[in-house]
Amino acid sequence: MRGPVFAANWKMNHGPHDAKAFLRTFLARYARKPDRTVAFFPPMVTIPAVAEALKDRAEILIGAQNIHWEDKGAYTGEISAPLARDAGAALALVGHSERRHVFGETDDETGKKCVAAARGGLKPMLCVGEKIEERENGLTEAVVLRQLRAGLAQLEPGQITTMFIAYEPVWAIGTGRTATPEDAASVHAIIRRQLHERIGAPAMRVPILYGGSVNTGNAKALLAAPEVGGLLVGGASLDPETWLSIVRT
Ligand code: PEP
Repeated sequence: MRGPVFAANWKMNHGPHDAKAFLRTFLARYARKPDRTVAFFPPMVTIPAVAEALKDRAEILIGAQNIHWEDKGAYTGEISAPLARDAGAALALVGHSERRHVFGETDDETGKKCVAAARGGLKPMLCVGEKIEERENGLTEAVVLRQLRAGLAQLEPGQITTMFIAYEPVWAIGTGRTATPEDAASVHAIIRRQLHERIGAPAMRVPILYGGSVNTGNAKALLAAPEVGGLLVGGASLDPETWLSIVRT
């Protein structure tokens, strides 16, 4: 993985038709750039349309927003890593704050999902981040390390080396309130140290993305912060022109 990673989390937006229109605009204006990586996390039903639109642009990655920890079975409404891979995904978001705090996903489940992603041939992008009351009570480091250790618990070092981590403070997601580059750098350094303790020198290869109200005005400063290896973007990734300007940062 070379250069910064720009990941678009479309959440529950952009069905197949919207996605095709988005990508027509985006691809016409976004030339292949070897110095950065772009990834899209569309809704599951949109993945095949995105995969079709990107069939000649293999350098752009596609991911699932969530997966189940089992590979198959009686889990109505769920999607497994092998199913997401079959649809065209190469990555999987795990432990996004909306999964944790809206749907009650636990640390234990994120650990199972990371290992299921790796087993199914998807690279996990594990999201970690504290709530506002945790930050105000001085618990940021403890929360982030707890979520990180749980997410990585069952992964082999080689699987960790090829994954992604996203630091997304919950109070910054979709709120318009962004962490300062200094806040992001200090938590990213904590994450990097923990990765290093777990797998040694290859920890330097794991991109650590920042996410939380990134926009065209703050992307450059956040990306310039030490240890910030990319951006995970929700709202500002929904419009192709805005997203183009972010990925060109
Ligand atoms: C996200 O959904 O991961 C996210 C960071 O959202 P937003 O950019 O809208 O805060």
